[in-house]
Amino acid sequence: MAVSIAETLSRPLEVPSDDADLYTISRYQFYTAAQYLPHVKQGLLEFLSHCVRTVTVEFPVEVEDGSVRTFVGYRILHSRVRGPGKGGIRYHPEVSEQEVRALASWMTWKCAIVDVPFGGAKGGVICNPKELSKKVLRQITRRYITELGDLIGPHTDIPAPDLYTDEQTMAWIYDTYDMMHPGRNNLPVVTGKPVDIGGSLGRREATARGCVFVIERTLAYRVLPDRDVLRGASVVIQGYGNVGSIAARLLAERGACIVAVSDSKGGIVNERGLDPEAVLEHKQRTGSVIDFPGARTITNAELLELPCDILIPAAFEKQITSKNAARIQARLVAEAANGPTTPRADLILRERGVVVIPDILANAGGVTVSYFEWVQNIENERWPEDEVNAKLRSKMERATDDVMRQQKRLTENLDQINRSRQERYGPDAESLGPPDLRTAALALALDRVAHVTLERGIWP
Ligand code: NAD
Repeated sequence: MAVSIAETLSRPLEVPSDDADLYTISRYQFYTAAQYLPHVKQGLLEFLSHCVRTVTVEFPVEVEDGSVRTFVGYRILHSRVRGPGKGGIRYHPEVSEQEVRALASWMTWKCAIVDVPFGGAKGGVICNPKELSKKVLRQITRRYITELGDLIGPHTDIPAPDLYTDEQTMAWIYDTYDMMHPGRNNLPVVTGKPVDIGGSLGRREATARGCVFVIERTLAYRVLPDRDVLRGASVVIQGYGNVGSIAARLLAERGACIVAVSDSKGGIVNERGLDPEAVLEHKQRTGSVIDFPGARTITNAELLELPCDILIPAAFEKQITSKNAARIQARLVAEAANGPTTPRADLILRERGVVVIPDILANAGGVTVSYFEWVQNIENERWPEDEVNAKLRSKMERATDDVMRQQKRLTENLDQINRSRQERYGPDAESLGPPDLRTAALALALDRVAHVTLERGIWP
């Protein structure tokens, strides 16, 4: 029998296992935050917990050996309450509907936290880009976008890059959509484009740069009592793609010591510090960071457990789980990747005093500069990179302040929240303790989206 949202919110939530799918995890996080908002209408919370549209497309592509393969793609819209859907497209063999749903909902919360006028969406195609030629990837992209037709558009749903899609993919998306809608400015249909086709200066670095701004601001709140600046901090980064490699460079520029990094083939460590540019050059030349001269090669599992001040997961979801959380030695985890920490790991880290800056804040720099790109495209403008970076800093710092303030506010008002819960759900309603940063960030986002939904009025 289906459980009502009131029942769900009144009693202790069942913490999903590490094996739970990403959507189950995202809903658990949603309900955890919703518990702190007894003033929001139940039906509204129920509505916001779902994705409003799920589209699956299946299409044929002739691959290099002449055979025809059917590919499956998704585009899922979680919410358009605060503006058009916005979210990346991922190409990966393990893309699934549940994963895309979770990622779409996180986009809604992310956009609300940094206060850009977008809702949340996400897309993906099940394929292995490492085994496909550039020509086949272009054909997949064009067919996928053609099948989506007018489900995407500059004012309805705007894609962007994600895992294993890049500026080139975005150029193909723009070109395909432009062929389908000639004679008008179609640049704002997709962000993360190459700079010479309407891309924004600073977009490539935006997710990593935003993450660094958020870490700096969080440290200034003295979440680590003995360290309030990046200079001298030891940092471990999992994943050396767009986000990981650029974060390493920006952090090293600020005087942090990058002690270890990794990619899908393994990790490297040097306690005296790695040179991020030299590591990137080595990866570009050899295909991996491993065997970098002067560093020891380690496994990804070992990398996560190294002693350091700051750990930045910048690869995949579910990397910090109940199996390794007790051995994580970092004091601050900044989630550059989406969903790298499972709920069970979250609880263990919290008990051990490890501060986690949640993905919906830590990696929101990408969508923030995507928003700047969209505005520039609509206005036929190009902003200088300094201006983009300054606007990004301002957005990320304000978002960090808002999340910190929300955590403080919810903590100070706990008695009142618990009283309201009892009034609403009865005397047996679970009594809540102070929220962590993830729950505070989500509660802030949920409150903002719920408020706008009511301001607009429930249609019709
Ligand atoms: P990318 O494809 O450029 O890089 C991914 C990196 O992860 C690669 O170096 C790959 O080798 C490495 N990797 C893969 N499997 C690994 C494993 N098991 N262990 C360690 N490393 C592994 O992707 P990206 O754009 O840098 O995205 C990384 C993460 O950041 C993703 O979770 C993505 O959703 C998130 N993110 C990206 C953006 C963006 O603007 N690119 C924005 C928000 C969030």
